[in-house]
Amino acid sequence: MAPRVRFAPSPTGYLHVGGLRTCLFNFLFARSCGGTMILRFEDTDQTRKVEGAEENLLSSLAWAGITFDEGPTQGGGFGPYVQSQRLPVYKEHVETLLSQGDAYPCFCTEEELTAMREDQIKKKRPTRYDGRCRRLSAGEVQAKLAAGTPHVVRMKIVHSQGDYQVNDLIRGPVTFSPSQIDDQVILKTDGFPTYHLASVVDDHLMEITHVIRGEEWLPSTPKHLQLYQYFGWTPPQFAHLPLLLNPDRSKLSKRQGDVATEEFKEKGYLKEALVNFVALLGWNPGDERELFSMDQLVQEFSLERVGKAGSVFDLAKLGWMNQQHIKGLTVEALMERLDPWMPLEAKALDPALLLKMVTLVKDSLVQLSDIGEKLGLFLNPSAQVQDPALVALMTTPEAKAVFRAFLEEAAPLEQLNGQNFGELMKGVAKKSEVKGKGLWVPMRLAITLAEHGPELPLVAEILGKATCLRRVEQALAL
Ligand code: GLU
Repeated sequence: MAPRVRFAPSPTGYLHVGGLRTCLFNFLFARSCGGTMILRFEDTDQTRKVEGAEENLLSSLAWAGITFDEGPTQGGGFGPYVQSQRLPVYKEHVETLLSQGDAYPCFCTEEELTAMREDQIKKKRPTRYDGRCRRLSAGEVQAKLAAGTPHVVRMKIVHSQGDYQVNDLIRGPVTFSPSQIDDQVILKTDGFPTYHLASVVDDHLMEITHVIRGEEWLPSTPKHLQLYQYFGWTPPQFAHLPLLLNPDRSKLSKRQGDVATEEFKEKGYLKEALVNFVALLGWNPGDERELFSMDQLVQEFSLERVGKAGSVFDLAKLGWMNQQHIKGLTVEALMERLDPWMPLEAKALDPALLLKMVTLVKDSLVQLSDIGEKLGLFLNPSAQVQDPALVALMTTPEAKAVFRAFLEEAAPLEQLNGQNFGELMKGVAKKSEVKGKGLWVPMRLAITLAEHGPELPLVAEILGKATCLRRVEQALAL
């Protein structure tokens, strides 16, 4: 049977890059083996639901180029794909567990649970539900139900059969002692199921074959396996993806920078670069290659090449990748991507001239949002070098001699361009008797206003003779 996988986010906010990684790995896995990719919204925790989060997830995923075969927008044969629209399905399955004696009503109040936890902490015991309602007699349960006592439903963890074992595709067999596992709440007082029940029921009914998700869900997997067993269902295969870490190896969090996919988009990262970067967080091609398109990833991806070790989210690496992907675009394609960041003054220019400017600065862009700053040298005619260290390089007697010679040599020329600039500078060298760095550094600073940047003759051509002369005169006056 062709694999069926799902991405099952809870609509509690933006799409975290960890979620994007999980979704991407499911997508690559499905697309690499002719499988089906499903989107399911897990919105059973109504208290955590955030307005607009579903739309945000959809738009971030669409931006990244991840497509689904079944889901809330496209439908499919296993819907609805939003858990809050499936409440009767969960209710029925909770009833089954209750009638089989695999689950029980729990009448403990918040206060009792808090007291239980505090007592356990005091006695230095692990904090978990102590099973007191599991031990109520049938008569006691009946009486409380008849009196309308509010309750949740908990599943039973089995303690008599030894350890639970999860056979994970990435980590191999992992065992959990039943004493580590809570009698999980599966149905809440508000009639909504918890994630654990809903996701198991849906994964089964939606015929999911592989559950690929973040490592933080590994400790929940024994509970899920127990539910599969109670229902008499074959569980899917599990693959838990390694944690994403901050450079200091703590768990990746908002505190240390951006983690929302849309923030990367807004900062001017290409979707190609973010996808490439995120793909390498846990997966590797088995060799030194680092740059991949989505199509190449689909061809190369396999779960066997996903490692267990946590992956560091290295922003410098993402910047490098973004630069590589920008270099890989044609200048025309880049122009389109730059549109949201293109300064209005630049948009007002002759398109052919703007194209020349962008061609010159293209390879220096790390983020698309750098474009305004990079074009500053062309767009801001009266700009001047401010940094005192750079001003010092432009005010030496040698630099002044260079500027004077330049003004004299350039004056008779009709225009400055890539062809005649080299000759011009030879004349300047001769007249000023300054060569090498002493010649080029002040000239570059005077004309481009920066120490590094695109090739000086090409910049001079775009700026035109008048602007170049004006800038050199300005530099001479410093
Ligand atoms: N709804 C869960 C989440 O938000 C999904 C976990 C799973 O994939 O089983 O991450």
